Amino acid sequence: MSGADRYPLMFSPLDLGFTKLKNRILMGSMHTGLEDVKNGFERQAKFFADRARGGVGMIITGGIPPNEEAGGGSKLSTPEEAEQHRIVTTAVHAADPDVKIVMQILHTGPLAGTPKCVAPSPIRSRIGRYVPNELDAEGIEKQLNDFATCAALAKSAGYDGVEIIGSAGYLLSTFLVERTNQRTDEYGGSFENRMRFPVEVVRRVREAVGPDFIVVFRIAAMDMLEGGMAWDEVVTLGKAIETAGVTIVSTHFCWHEAPVPTIATMVPRAAFTQVTGRLRAELGVPLITSNRINMPAVAEQVLERGDADLVSMARPMLADPDLVKKAWEGREDEINTCIACNQACLDHTFTGKMTSCLVNPRACYETELVASTAETPQRVAVVGAGPAGLSYAVTAAQRGHKVTLIESGSEVGGQFNLAKRIPGKEEFEETLRYYRRMIQVLGIELRLNTRADAAGLKAEGFDQVVVATGISPRTPSVPGIDHPKVVSYIDAIMGRREIGQRVAIMGAGGIGFDVAELITHAGVSAALDVNVFAKEWGIDFKNHPRGGVTGVTPVVESSGREVTLMQRKADALGKTLGRTTGWTHRAVLQRRGVRMVGGVEYLGIDDQGLHVRIGGEDRTFEVDTVIVCAGQEPLRALYDDLIAQGVNASLVGGAFEAMELDAKRAIDQATRLAIAA
Ligand code: NAP
Ligand code: SF4
Repeated sequence: MSGADRYPLMFSPLDLGFTKLKNRILMGSMHTGLEDVKNGFERQAKFFADRARGGVGMIITGGIPPNEEAGGGSKLSTPEEAEQHRIVTTAVHAADPDVKIVMQILHTGPLAGTPKCVAPSPIRSRIGRYVPNELDAEGIEKQLNDFATCAALAKSAGYDGVEIIGSAGYLLSTFLVERTNQRTDEYGGSFENRMRFPVEVVRRVREAVGPDFIVVFRIAAMDMLEGGMAWDEVVTLGKAIETAGVTIVSTHFCWHEAPVPTIATMVPRAAFTQVTGRLRAELGVPLITSNRINMPAVAEQVLERGDADLVSMARPMLADPDLVKKAWEGREDEINTCIACNQACLDHTFTGKMTSCLVNPRACYETELVASTAETPQRVAVVGAGPAGLSYAVTAAQRGHKVTLIESGSEVGGQFNLAKRIPGKEEFEETLRYYRRMIQVLGIELRLNTRADAAGLKAEGFDQVVVATGISPRTPSVPGIDHPKVVSYIDAIMGRREIGQRVAIMGAGGIGFDVAELITHAGVSAALDVNVFAKEWGIDFKNHPRGGVTGVTPVVESSGREVTLMQRKADALGKTLGRTTGWTHRAVLQRRGVRMVGGVEYLGIDDQGLHVRIGGEDRTFEVDTVIVCAGQEPLRALYDDLIAQGVNASLVGGAFEAMELDAKRAIDQATRLAIAA
């Protein structure tokens, strides 16, 4: 059965009148860092051209500022700057002339990291660095002209269209809500006045580019902001920008400072598309929907429900540039699925690092991490089938090496087999599915339930042995650590030991938080049920109050366990969690009543409980269970044995360095090593 039969809607073209999109999947805009001229446009060109070859119908670039005060990266305001963009548009059209490339014009308004930043009113965003300069009439006119100039230059550079971002707390959206727009002139007050600037941007842009050019407007269909846009305002704005000349309306569900997760892995797949569907019923132009749509079957369901005309997948195109092509060829089980962890994409973006992807470290590094065919194929043994071993084995096999993957357990996956059991992390199973399938496709010899030893590996005569034996949980030297009430995090997560009603968790890293989530969880995982998710985060899809949020602190179901999460450091707990997701984990646990205690000295464990000293004062937590989540130690005895026996061996993942080990680092390191081998 062809892709067209399996996904008839996804693979149907969309006629825009003056041009046609070849299918319904687009790569949504992401700020990757590649837009910065200092990285050279060739790197960005290769990144997008790979995605064009991978089958998407349309690509929207990362945000390009129209002027200096817009912030965000390298601006486009002169013909010389436009000339450089030609490298990108030419590469994409050469890869596939039917793929459209649309440049996002991003004016970050009060979020621009420059003292020149502007906004309708001088109100500093909670996450902004500066109080923005209030735009006067002349300033508004300048911004409008700069948008129009930028769009015209994008057209001259060979783009097929532009996207104007009117959401997320960036300039246009700050005009739309009273909270950030307190003007008393014709740009403030009534909604008609507040939408004047965004609508005028669209009108000027259309005027500048003429009729046969795609103009997308990203609208905050639900901005998640208390006091945000009301539903009738969203519809009014949608109709006004339609009249002003947009080709496509793209729905967005975000305001960067709103305390509601909208793309993290705990958000159910396609959670927000129903809102796009409601807006689609009101407008005449095609609509794009987005957020947590990571597999072709999910996209097809969204289209079947009539929620949208087009589906945006942004991060899934980092994880797998060939996603659409694989769907077309019936190879869905070979898709390396985005697990919505944010660890190498958004967490990098928000800390000023180049974006990449945890499950695909080649993302944004396409020009330097080239997995070329090995000149001399070798026989390689990889010992340990956790994330590091799996990624090494797959990359090496893709390069033509003959790989044998040896695992002492009964299944592949290592620490990912723990992660996928945590409510909200169900997506991790997709990565395991991908690796299991790639082992078959690439003909990797998999030996499960097999403990490798140096002598045996040497006797088999492998050209090289890669040791990815991982870690063992650290056992802190605390009196009573062998008491029956002490449980390791592995046993707790795998459900091998009974967990009592009163629990102390020693260690508050990623795993301490995961364990706290698991043992306080009750009912269905919010990631699997939109209604549960909406209840947990105070979203009201039915009545759509302002911003879509109720403003009442949500009540979160809990197992009823009394849990204390602790660490020795005096810092706030959860500081090592992901930049863009850490706050969600802290919020959920706080709502479930989990106590978080720092600056703890562990004195001992006995029948009474866990004895600690905090701020010089001795205390006893009378608990039934103490779960140890105190980090890991590397397992590298095999490596030492191999070296002693003169075998060509290398170390990857947790076995190499267990401290603050994470899958991102393990997969990245293993992939790079396999590319260099
Ligand atoms: P971790 O992040 O290194 O945390 C270890 C915890 O154990 C710390 O809270 C540490 O705090 C404590 N600890 C260390 N040595 C100790 C000792 N001798 N006695 C008592 N406590 C000790 O390790 P992890 O939680 O096991 O996570 C492993 C990796 O997986 C990390 O890189 C983590 O980021 C990653 N991960 C991430 C997520 C996520 O949500 N992004 C989820 C799971 C895992 P004190 O030293 O202050 O006591
Ligand atoms: Fe998706 Fe995580 Fe990769 Fe980002 S880092 S694209 S969220 S899998």
